[in-house]
Amino acid sequence: MNSVFVYCEIEEGTVADVSLELLTKGRALATKLGVKLEAIALGEGLKNIEKQVFPYGVDVLWVGDDARLAPYTTLPHTKMLVRLFDAEKPQVALMGATSVGRDLGPRVSSALHSGLTADCTSLEIGEYTDAKSGKKYENLLYQIRPAFGGNIVATIVNPECRPQMATVREGVMKKEIFNLQHQGEVKKLNVDEYLDDTDLVVKVIERHMEKSKVNIKAAPIIVAGGYGVGSKENFNLLYELAAVLGGEVGASRAAVDAGFCEHERQIGQTGTTVRPKLYIACGISGQIQHTAGMEESSMVIAINTDANAPINKFADYVITGDLNVVIPKMIQYYKKNSK
Ligand code: FAD
Repeated sequence: MNSVFVYCEIEEGTVADVSLELLTKGRALATKLGVKLEAIALGEGLKNIEKQVFPYGVDVLWVGDDARLAPYTTLPHTKMLVRLFDAEKPQVALMGATSVGRDLGPRVSSALHSGLTADCTSLEIGEYTDAKSGKKYENLLYQIRPAFGGNIVATIVNPECRPQMATVREGVMKKEIFNLQHQGEVKKLNVDEYLDDTDLVVKVIERHMEKSKVNIKAAPIIVAGGYGVGSKENFNLLYELAAVLGGEVGASRAAVDAGFCEHERQIGQTGTTVRPKLYIACGISGQIQHTAGMEESSMVIAINTDANAPINKFADYVITGDLNVVIPKMIQYYKKNSK
């Protein structure tokens, strides 16, 4: 039985959060399957990578440390992964649903004829019986994600081909240290054996990194507004409440599409996944594509004029009323009762 592999994205010597989240999930899957968790790091100046990934339970770290592998370009990384997977035959391979993972995953999967499920929201191990042949499969990767516009949650299996490949967006899985003392083995890849000139036809001449000013992922309190907020001007009420509480403002896609708020604040399936201590949903109905991005919040307060809004099922406290009346009262009472 072969391993669970995680492709680690690296930026300036640091492993990306999405990769650490996948290592956390990968560790749980590998333990369930009784196999090793293996990580792959490709880039340049990767001296400290093992210190970053071993605490997440990595048993084997494959390192390709070479100037030709940094910054990421499609062909060399694809070649390295295809050849490594061909030799090691992992049963599961995971990568982030980032611009890198979305570029790399399908190419690797196509070269290996393995299949891939993009943007999974959950990964589990289970069994499957083929309805036609009656053949029973055990220990398959359940690749779970919303499908058909979010109307169903599909569980996708890949019984025959390996590796079973999946991408997962940042923030969807939890990042958790497995054991600070955990030690794995480092295996160095001889890049010369993998690459030839045809893999190096693309040269990156210049890179420009745009850093987002908003970091809703890290905010402990999020005041999120939906289409029910009504206008960009009304969103100022939410900014005021967020400022008073020391939080950030988030939004539903309907609010973003209506121009009430910037896209970088969108929460949900096609936005950011958040897990704040407190999530205040204002004028948000609670469609599955939105709740997929906030359902793991520790506490949810829903403010909605509709007493039967689906968001109320996720809420610890429901305030049935007009947000234009409720939010100013919240600001007023919070200011009055806190020093
Ligand atoms: P609505 O559904 O219109 O709800 C507005 C709510 O405001 C209602 O419940 C209403 O009762 C309440 N309301 C109205 N006036 C007031 C008031 N004065 N005071 C209090 N309450 C009031 N959506 C996301 O949010 N994030 C995503 O990432 C996302 N991705 C998607 C991906 C796909 C492929 C698809 C098909 C859809 C996606 N959506 C996403 C859209 C999603 O299906 C919903 O359309 C969207 O979440 C609805 O936003 P909303 O709740 O703000 O608006």
